[in-house]
Amino acid sequence: MYEFECGSPVCNHRLTSSSKDELMREVAEHVRRTHGIAVPPKSILSYLDETAVTETSPTPKGRRKP
Ligand SMILES: [Zn+2]
Repeated sequence: MYEFECGSPVCNHRLTSSSKDELMREVAEHVRRTHGIAVPPKSILSYLDETAVTETSPTPKGRRKP
């Protein structure tokens, strides 16, 4: 799972997705809708990718499927 937390001080939006591509698509949509940036430049997306996206483990530790 990938999790995005918006870094804007006026926005605490949080998005999760199972794939990074999809998450970045949702991030772009969020930036467009909420922050009024029509087409987020790649530099912004890669910046957000590095600073606001975290990878979370889908399965709890110690519970591995055979
Ligand atoms: Zn935001």
